[in-house]
Amino acid sequence: MSSYLRLLKYARPYTGRLLAGLLCLLGASGSQMILPYIIKVVTDDVLVARDMQMLNFISVGILVLFILRGFFVYGQQYLLEWVGQKVVFDLRNELFGSMVRRRGLAYFEHGRTGGLMSYYSNDINTLRSAITGAGMDFVRESVILVYSVAYMLYLDWTLSLLVFVSGPIVALAVRKLGRKIKRASRQVLDQLHEFSAILQETISGIRQVKSFVREDYELERFERQTTKNFRATMKATRAGAVLTPVVEFLATVGVVAIIWFGSRSVVEGQLSAGDFLAFMALSINLSNPIKRVSRAYAKIQEAQAGCERVFGALDFEPEVKDAPDAVELPPITGRVRFDHVTFCYGHEDHPAIRDFSHLVQPGQMVALVGPSGAGKTTLANLVMRFYDVQSGHLYLDDFDVRAVTQKSLREQVGIVSQETLLFSGTIFDNIRYGRLEATEEEVRAAARSAHVMEFVEQFPEGFDTLVGERGMSLSGGQRQRVAIARAILKDPRILILDEATSALDTESERLVQAALDQLLVGRTSFVIAHRLSTIFKADVILVLDHGRLVEHGRHLELLEQGGLYARLYHTQFRDERSSRPEPRADASSAEMR
Ligand code: ADP
Repeated sequence: MSSYLRLLKYARPYTGRLLAGLLCLLGASGSQMILPYIIKVVTDDVLVARDMQMLNFISVGILVLFILRGFFVYGQQYLLEWVGQKVVFDLRNELFGSMVRRRGLAYFEHGRTGGLMSYYSNDINTLRSAITGAGMDFVRESVILVYSVAYMLYLDWTLSLLVFVSGPIVALAVRKLGRKIKRASRQVLDQLHEFSAILQETISGIRQVKSFVREDYELERFERQTTKNFRATMKATRAGAVLTPVVEFLATVGVVAIIWFGSRSVVEGQLSAGDFLAFMALSINLSNPIKRVSRAYAKIQEAQAGCERVFGALDFEPEVKDAPDAVELPPITGRVRFDHVTFCYGHEDHPAIRDFSHLVQPGQMVALVGPSGAGKTTLANLVMRFYDVQSGHLYLDDFDVRAVTQKSLREQVGIVSQETLLFSGTIFDNIRYGRLEATEEEVRAAARSAHVMEFVEQFPEGFDTLVGERGMSLSGGQRQRVAIARAILKDPRILILDEATSALDTESERLVQAALDQLLVGRTSFVIAHRLSTIFKADVILVLDHGRLVEHGRHLELLEQGGLYARLYHTQFRDERSSRPEPRADASSAEMR
C-alpha cells in the first residue's frame, strides 16, 4: 500500500479539488440511502397514517433530493476524475523527464526502445485505470457500505447483527462448496488427459495392438478409463448441483430469521413497519457494495505492480551523475587529454577502452581508425561523458570531465553522427535545435554555412517545410547538412564526427564535405574516419585495436611503419583509393588541407 500513499502525495497540489470531490462523493453515496428512506416514510407516514398531504410533500421532496443528487454525482465524477487524470499527467511528465534526463545512454542502447516505450505507456495506463477506475469505485462503494451498515444499525441493531452473522456464513458455505467444485473439475481434466493419452497410444501403436491381438484388452482399458471419466464428471456435477440448493437454503434460513424477528418487533410495537421494510431493502442490497468493493480491491492489487514499476523507474539512480561539488565548465580551448583511460560496458574482462593515453591539442583534427569494434565510438562517447571511465582520467583543458556538470560539458561538445535524426517540425526548428535561443538570422547563417540553403530554397515552403515522422523525407546528404548546420549553430569547442559509411552521390558528397570544412575549422575534432580525405587531412591518426591505442601519427608515417594502419588502409579504404590520388610523401600538412 506504500506506493498508494506515495500516489496520494501526487494529489497534494490538488487538495482543494480532491476534498470538494470527496464531499460530493459523500453526498452522492449518501443519496443512495434515499430509497430505503422513502420506503420507510411512505409506509409509516403515508400508508399507515393515510396522510395525502404527506404524500405530496414526499413526492416534491424526492424530486428535490434527486436534483441535489445530480449535482453531487456530477461533482464527484468531474472533480475526482480531474484529480486522477492530473496525477497521471504529472507522473507521465515526471517519468519522461526522468527517462531523458537521468537515464544514461546505456539504458537505451540495448535495442529495446520499443519495449521501453510500451513498458512506460502500459504501466501508466494500468495506473490510470487503478486511480480513476478501480480506486474511485473502491472509495465510493466503501462509503455506500458504511452508510448502509450505519443505517441498518440505526434502524435496529439486533436485527443488523443477525444479518452480519448470517451473511458471512452463507459466503463461507459458497466458498467451501466452490473449492470442492474446483477440485472435482480439475479431476475431470486430469481424467481427460489420461483418456486422450490412451487414445493416442492405441492409435499410434495400432500395429502392436493388432499384431499381439490385443484389441479386446485395449477396449477394456479404454472402457475402464471412460468409466472413471464419467464418475469424475458426475462428482463435479453433484458438487455443482448441491451448491444452489444449499446456498439458497442457508440464505432462506437467514431471511426467515430476519423476517421472523423483525416482524415480531413490528407486531410488538418496537419497530415501525416502515423501519422494517427499509431494513429489508438495505440488507438485500448489502451484497452489492461488498461485491464491488472486493472487485475493485482485486483490481487495485493488480495495479500495484504497475505502480511499483513506475516508482521504481522514478527512483532510479543515474549511472552518470554530476558530482556534488561539480563546477560549470568555463569556455575551453579544446585540449583533450586521455590519461590511462580504461572503460568497459560491464564485462570486466573485456574493456572497450584499455589504458588509453593521448594528448590532443586545441584545434587538432584527430582521425580515429581501427577495425569494427575497436572502440572508436566508445572513445568519442567518453569525451561526451555519456559513460564514466572505470579508471584513469579524461581532461578537457585542465578539467576532469567528472568534476564538471554534464550540462556545461555537453554544451561545449558537439556530435554529428551518420544517422541524423530529424525531429518532427520544420527545417528551421531542426536547425535551431542546436541552440534554442538563436535568432532567425543566426539560424539562416548556419544554414548558409552548411549548404542547407541550396536545397531549402527549392522547397515551396522553404525553411518552414515540415520534416520528420510526418513531414517530407530528406535525402541522406541533406539530413547530414541539416545536422552540420545544427552543430555550427551550437558552436562547440570540441566536435565528434561519425562519418557516413555509405557513399553519397558526388554532388551531395561535395556539399557535405564543404559544409564539414566550415564546421571543423578552429575546433578540436574527433572523426570516426571512413573517408580517405579525412585521414589525409587529419593532424593525427589514432589507430585502435581491441580498445588499445596501437599506433598514432600522420598518414604517411603510419603507412611506412607497415603495421595495423597500413593493413587497414589497404583493406578498409581500398575501394575509395582507386579514385583518389594519394598525397605525395613530401607534401606539407598545409597543402593537404
Ligand atoms: P567501433 O566504434 O570501433 O566499431 P565500439 O566503440 O562501438 O567500436 O565498440 C567497442 C567494443 O565495445 C565492442 O566490443 C562492442 O561490442 C562493445 N560495445 C559497444 N557499445 C556497447 C554497449 N552499449 N554495451 C556493451 N558493449 C558495447
